[in-house]
Amino acid sequence: MFPRMIIDLSKIRRNIEKLSEKLGKSGIDMVGVTKLFMGEPALAKAYLEAGAKILADSRHENITRMKNSGIEGPFMIIRIPPLSHIPMLKETVEYYLVSEPEVAMRIDEEVKGAKMIYMVDVGDLREGVMYYEAVEEIEKVKKTLKNSSIIGVGTNIGCFGGVLPTKENLNRIVKVAKSVDAQVISVGGTVYLISFEKGELPKEINQMRIGEAALLGTDVTGNREIPYLEQGTVIFEAEIIELKTKPSVPDGPIGYDSMGRKPIFEDKGKRLRAIIAAGEQDINPSGLTPLDEGAEVIHSSSDHTIIDVTEVQRPLKVGDILRFRMNYSATLRAMTSPYVEKVWLE
Ligand SMILES: *Cc1c(COP(=O)(O)O)cnc(C)c1O
Repeated sequence: MFPRMIIDLSKIRRNIEKLSEKLGKSGIDMVGVTKLFMGEPALAKAYLEAGAKILADSRHENITRMKNSGIEGPFMIIRIPPLSHIPMLKETVEYYLVSEPEVAMRIDEEVKGAKMIYMVDVGDLREGVMYYEAVEEIEKVKKTLKNSSIIGVGTNIGCFGGVLPTKENLNRIVKVAKSVDAQVISVGGTVYLISFEKGELPKEINQMRIGEAALLGTDVTGNREIPYLEQGTVIFEAEIIELKTKPSVPDGPIGYDSMGRKPIFEDKGKRLRAIIAAGEQDINPSGLTPLDEGAEVIHSSSDHTIIDVTEVQRPLKVGDILRFRMNYSATLRAMTSPYVEKVWLE
């Protein structure tokens, strides 16, 4: 059935192998992040077989799914657990990212022998204690723990503020790690590969949490395809439901579209436009790249996406399938859409 996404697990497996080998040579353990594919057990298996040391997900549902499929872990929860979720995690999860004394103390009470990584904000402004307040807070929390330990410190950049790694923000985490005697310095996500490749990653950093690079071969924050990895791991397919030549600019005064945006149209005269049966509920249209040369994604509403196919060489008709490469946000949306079938290729 269409729409559907085709996920090429053999490409992903090769990406994981390459990454874990490269990182391993520099003494960095790869943590395989599964959240983009909702804890798909086949992916979890591929991560472990290809050399990832820990499986990480942001949602307890995904970790439970892996566990119930016979995946042993070890598991890391990479979103700070809400207090109310700790009971769902305590039997399965060994590694916890934390950033609040209350959370650390509750984990210590409820989870036997939890290993915590205290998150430090080095500038991206998502989770973590600000780096200049980190040592004091971490030392204070350490004194309160009875059953668990803070094994290390961690940091996250690229995800919220779009911050790139620099000598300065890398040194911030290393400095905190030294002051609190951390065994593990955990960085993520994918954007840290830039520093790794340039040899700018401090040698103290020994863990990297990676999702996007392994799964898509790209680095959205660094705005690049990673040259030694494979892209096109995920392909979106949708069916043409209308194919007509129409003007390229709507007729009438333009207000806001169904998503509350003000659309802008370029007047290219009359164009051949395909409507595919997929929209904002299924994908992020700006994250689709047509595989047909000359095709261009114009705009979506909730259930329809318009593709300009005037320049496409092959003859098209209603019922034909258009195929697209997917970026991180398009993949994320499609994975969580019940309307998109998921097909895994081994
Ligand atoms: C999503 C996430 C990652 C992985 O990021 P990618 O950019 O997909 O590699 C790492 N750490 C944390 C805390 C995350 O939430």
